[in-house]
Amino acid sequence: MLGFGILKGMSVTLRRFVDTYVGDLGKFPWRYRSRPVYKRMGITERGAFTIQYPEERVAMFPRYRGPLMLLTDPEKGITRCIGCGLCERTCPTESIKVTRAEEKVDDQRVPETYEYDMNTCMFCGFCVQICPQDALGHSPELEMGTYSKGDALILNLDQMLELGRKHAPGGVWPLEKEAEPS
Ligand code: SF4
Ligand code: SF4
Repeated sequence: MLGFGILKGMSVTLRRFVDTYVGDLGKFPWRYRSRPVYKRMGITERGAFTIQYPEERVAMFPRYRGPLMLLTDPEKGITRCIGCGLCERTCPTESIKVTRAEEKVDDQRVPETYEYDMNTCMFCGFCVQICPQDALGHSPELEMGTYSKGDALILNLDQMLELGRKHAPGGVWPLEKEAEPS
């Protein structure tokens, strides 16, 4: 019918418009509280809305490639990294430097030092794919901005483990978690 497509389009626009305000009313006053941080854009969210950052955050997608983190083995309580250096050799931009400790810990090889340079990393994920221990993962971290380039964007072993404990406390990084049967 002539004009049906226009009416259909307008009805979708009107529905989104109403959903936006109805959805926001349902979230009052939680969206304006800083703790806990309110996550928006879940799959059940409808309508178009503005994120009230930093009180609200976008729920990050599991495949988002953020800065690298090192995972801790939850059973041993030490890093899953064995300091083999494969990630360093694989990195096309030479953003990783790792040295292996002389002594084993809990009968496992461990790194002595680990340096990850975000200034040059292009988040390609080659290092994550090559790691034989699944010790490396992309964190969903967003808020690591600095006013200058340089040392502030170079993470050491402790900082990477801290990032891993923050985002993958069970030693499982988001993609593996997503693949687990529910
Ligand atoms: S994500 Fe790519 S560029 Fe970044 S450290 Fe890993 S291999 Fe290198
Ligand atoms: S993160 Fe993985 S690839 Fe890199 S040194 Fe550790 S075990 Fe080897």
